[in-house]
Amino acid sequence: MTDAAPDASSDPEAIARNLAAVKARIAEACARAGRDPGTVTLVAVSKTHPAEAVLAALAAGQAVFGENRVQEAMAKFPPLRPAHPQLRLHLIGALQTNKAREAVRVADVIESLDRPKLAAALADAMAKEGRRPALLVQVNTGDEPQKAGVPRAEADAFLRACRDDHGLEITGLMCIPPVEGDPRPHFAWLAGLAARHGLRTLSMGMSGDFEAAIAEGATHVRIGTAIFGSRPKP
Ligand SMILES: *Cc1c(COP(=O)(O)O)cnc(C)c1O
Repeated sequence: MTDAAPDASSDPEAIARNLAAVKARIAEACARAGRDPGTVTLVAVSKTHPAEAVLAALAAGQAVFGENRVQEAMAKFPPLRPAHPQLRLHLIGALQTNKAREAVRVADVIESLDRPKLAAALADAMAKEGRRPALLVQVNTGDEPQKAGVPRAEADAFLRACRDDHGLEITGLMCIPPVEGDPRPHFAWLAGLAARHGLRTLSMGMSGDFEAAIAEGATHVRIGTAIFGSRPKP
């Protein structure tokens, strides 16, 4: 994969260099789109990489991170918070309802709300924990059977149900377009859905396609490989 930096997990200087390069590419993409770079937040996806890699990124000025597993996030992030109060954690992976309470405890943003049962579990967990992470609805823009996310055709109704049935405030949308094909129509479609619902946050774009996502209005890009290097295959 051409966008993969070599594995940088154990090399703080490589992480700092990769971060600077990614930020420069974000700035260039913003310039091409006539956007202020301050409107795009970089979420550094540290999944599978050790806490040392997160510390190296923190030292290089990165504050916002993404993890896809609750268990891994619980092990890595709470110990870092006292010394790094600027740290913000986004949960970006498929979430089981029985992990809702831990998710609410550990995350500042949950990007993967995609079904009524999870909406109910998160509403209940937020009441019990007295903590309210921001919530994004994940849409399966390619309607891929193996992928998480609410199907396209159900997105409007699900957004209304989150608000009306579960009392949840949704701040934005997230998508992961199909690996094959042009991601831009998916990003554009998600931006249209957000506009219809008055949602300001659009989490879209990863190492391989974040420039296209910025062109279509991404406010958050989730980038792992280009910062921390390649990950072991699951
Ligand atoms: C792993 C992951 C990313 C980061 O992907 P890269 O290609 O490594 O940048 C982004 N979003 C989600 C939901 C992920 O699981």
